[in-house]
Amino acid sequence: MHQLTLAEIARGLADKKFSSEELTKVLLARITQLDPQLNSFISLTEELALEQAKAADVRRANGESGALLGAPIAHKDLFCTQGIRTSCGSKMLDNFKAPYDATVVSKLAAAGTVTLGKTNMDEFAMGSANESSWYGAVKNPWNLEHVPGGSSGGSAAAVAARLLPAATATDTGGSIRQPAAFTNLTGLKPTYGRVSRWGMIAYASSLDQGGPLARTAEDCAILLQGMAGFDPNDSTSIDEPVPDYAAGLNGSLQGLRIGVPKEYFGAGLDPRIADLIQNSIKELQKLGAVIKEISLPNMQHAIPAYYVIAPAEASSNLSRFDGVRFGHRCEDPKNLEDLYKRSRGEGFGPEVQRRIMVGAYALSAGYYDAYYLKAQKIRRLVKNDFMAAFNEVDIILGPTTPNPAWKLGAKNSDPVAAYLEDVYTITANLAGLPGLSMPAGFVDGLPVGVQLLAPYFQEGRLLNVAHQYQLNTDWHTRTPTGF
Ligand code: GLN
Repeated sequence: MHQLTLAEIARGLADKKFSSEELTKVLLARITQLDPQLNSFISLTEELALEQAKAADVRRANGESGALLGAPIAHKDLFCTQGIRTSCGSKMLDNFKAPYDATVVSKLAAAGTVTLGKTNMDEFAMGSANESSWYGAVKNPWNLEHVPGGSSGGSAAAVAARLLPAATATDTGGSIRQPAAFTNLTGLKPTYGRVSRWGMIAYASSLDQGGPLARTAEDCAILLQGMAGFDPNDSTSIDEPVPDYAAGLNGSLQGLRIGVPKEYFGAGLDPRIADLIQNSIKELQKLGAVIKEISLPNMQHAIPAYYVIAPAEASSNLSRFDGVRFGHRCEDPKNLEDLYKRSRGEGFGPEVQRRIMVGAYALSAGYYDAYYLKAQKIRRLVKNDFMAAFNEVDIILGPTTPNPAWKLGAKNSDPVAAYLEDVYTITANLAGLPGLSMPAGFVDGLPVGVQLLAPYFQEGRLLNVAHQYQLNTDWHTRTPTGF
């Protein structure tokens, strides 16, 4: 039963092959048995899950239907869940029980999903290896000595290990697409504003976006359908109708214009990944797509710009965690200053402290123009590159990451080495564009992802291309040994 996709679960529940309660019990038992190897959950919510599963079974018995009615999922532990610890992977929020549900959580609950738990993540979503979590590193089910990617590493490892069919995640600079690539999943970062950020603990508000992580494009379509839509509580949410994503999966790719940026294939890309990307291009050509070389000339400036803008926003967002209004409070503070200093010093881990310092520096008087303003100008150039490219092509294709998942600890002493691995993903966040990563093969037994980018609000196009690709390839069906 644990191998079923969301689409198969919906059919099984509709045909009364099993109940949501039965399925939920199987998956909870599987998590208890296997997760100690992975550390992909921070909290399990067994009671809530069984309650929601029973309620979904009653709704089905009363004639209701719906692709998510009775579907077990989990939420990345930065989506607020009422009465349940929402830690953001940090000691700072280890004691924080959210007083309300994030919009994504309440929308999915209303659609009938069953919450199995809250998944592990890099602290405050800062990272690309899921090693900065206060709750310990997450392991990659494809090789337990390797990282699963981050910051949504818990969601990715759990779905890849078949502990559950799909999970929510967020992507500020690649945290849905990169762990998808590292664990052989399909992950979609929607257009900025497509999915509400209300109740999603902020890292960098102008870049953060929630989205689905699942094994197939079809399942991403199903989960996104439940997450997307206008939310008056989020001032950056966009009031744009949500299409029927599942209905759009079967469009023909005949004549689809795919742009392949020449800058993507420069130094730094593992040549074995380059070969796999070429294979996926050939596969899409067989389905009727037309390939065109394009250029994204400002791509080289994206990493430095992102690593100014994201920490700047983080330093501002994280100022609320002061031991007074939220979060960890130190023992016996001598005075107010001591309270702030020690509460924040004890509550935040080293990567978060590094980013707060970088961000505060970049925003300070005298440095604002030199760093922050310049980074914002680069951001516009990156967006302009994409706008020019999308005049000529329908989607852009390339690798999701330059290398496969690295060994645990391999980049711990050199944060910049980890930042460089984000080279292909962060541009979509800077421009606000939707992006998808899907399985494209293996290197040394480790999964490799191919990334597709599309114009604003063309999530449906990405899902359609990925679904057609998955009907003709079987990378996404491979299961890690031992799971
Ligand atoms: N690796 C990037 C960072 O550390 C992206 C993280 C994310 O998307 N949340 O900022």
